[in-house]
Amino acid sequence: MLQYKNHSEKLAKIQSKEISLIENVQIFLDNIELKKDLNAFNFVFDDALAQANIIENKIFNGTAGKLAGMVIAIKDVIAIKDKPLTCSSKILENFSSVYTATAVQKLIDEDAIIIGKTNCDEFAMGSSNENSAFGKVLNPVDKSRVPGGSSGGSAAAVAANLCDVSLGTDTGGSIRQPASFCGIYGLKPTYGRVSRYGLTAFASSFDSIGPFANNIEDIALVLSVIAGKDQLDSTSKEIEIPNYVEVIDKPSVLKIGIPQEFFGNGLNEEVKIAIQQKIDYLSKNDDIEFINIHLPHNEYSIATYYILTTAEASANLQRYDGVRYGVRDNKQTELDEMYTQTRSKGFGKEVKRRIMLGTYVLSSGYYDAYYTKAQKVRRLIQEDFTNAFQKVDVILTPTSPFTAFKIGEKSSDPLEMYLSDIYTTSANLAGIPGISIPVGNDSSGLPIGMQLLANQFNEEILLQTAKRFNQ
Ligand code: GLN
Repeated sequence: MLQYKNHSEKLAKIQSKEISLIENVQIFLDNIELKKDLNAFNFVFDDALAQANIIENKIFNGTAGKLAGMVIAIKDVIAIKDKPLTCSSKILENFSSVYTATAVQKLIDEDAIIIGKTNCDEFAMGSSNENSAFGKVLNPVDKSRVPGGSSGGSAAAVAANLCDVSLGTDTGGSIRQPASFCGIYGLKPTYGRVSRYGLTAFASSFDSIGPFANNIEDIALVLSVIAGKDQLDSTSKEIEIPNYVEVIDKPSVLKIGIPQEFFGNGLNEEVKIAIQQKIDYLSKNDDIEFINIHLPHNEYSIATYYILTTAEASANLQRYDGVRYGVRDNKQTELDEMYTQTRSKGFGKEVKRRIMLGTYVLSSGYYDAYYTKAQKVRRLIQEDFTNAFQKVDVILTPTSPFTAFKIGEKSSDPLEMYLSDIYTTSANLAGIPGISIPVGNDSSGLPIGMQLLANQFNEEILLQTAKRFNQ
């Protein structure tokens, strides 16, 4: 167990010398070694200890940044200069990044300590972290189960006390679903809130970077650091950033929407009951009103998501051709054969499946039938949310239809696996922010997550609501 409940308490304890930062980092490094079987990390950075020394001095000098001494792990799809960047793929084996992602640079500038790169599904494609060239990640709550995906290593690392906070990425639920499976907090910010510069592209109009933590205050603090317009990412937005740390405690009168479509068939009974209990408990508050709403196009979200993201992925992954990046099959004498062999050997099964699906939906005979149509449905899903947010401030749903499943349980059936994302993909289709918060455990002791969604750039209401739900 950690000796503090959030970063501000940790910092106070370092200042009063109750905690030594160097010892704290050593404990994390020891834990990583001790819990190696979880396979949460692809790479661990030994220079973390030297950093701890420098930053501890800064804390005592009063020159340290907002995240001084916060120990953070980074999903291995995000670039850090001179460190490996593999995306958990064989094709990027031995590749090191030549620059640092903006989100990571902002953490470093505020004196966070980066402890390593976490395991994930290859190129962030998956819902269980079983599609990794580094092997699967185990759920620290129950090692026979998956931690969720694709940011499974980042979620497991926080849940198992291998770091204070981690960064993940969410294209269709990859922060929220593993947070829910591991019993921690995970925030997917609005598309455009956090720079994607230095994030390896999967589906560029969906991808976002966000934090995992075991408390809501640290989520707010990290978001306040990584948010903001970046000249290096033209899709990041110049929109005022509230002081998330302060607004989190502001009392708010809330209208919470319950989308009926998210509570029907397919939802595990125990998950449903846990969420209903939370709703019943909160409806005793005079300033919280629950309203039944409808998101009628949600039933098309999985199909729409898998058409559009595979299309974008097939274009984004063209660059791994053995010429400029990573691995090359040198045995070939013909250029075409070199491309084919490099990609056949370098990519895993799921990545190949997505590239083929995406190439298919973009091919000339099928473009209108699939790609154009899916773009239109994306608009309808966005409009559902626009309409809903005229009536309510926040939308409450389960994060996942079930708790963490057994390793191997869904890996032979991709469609079954894709259905895990039924409640999360619509937020990425609409570009809105979402958070998963822990709300208890099922009868086997597995964590249950609840998802809160808000309108674009309204992360503060998610943080406030999450905080209230915990009191
Ligand atoms: N599980 C989803 C997928 O496989 C989401 C992945 C993600 O958000 N990166 O595409």
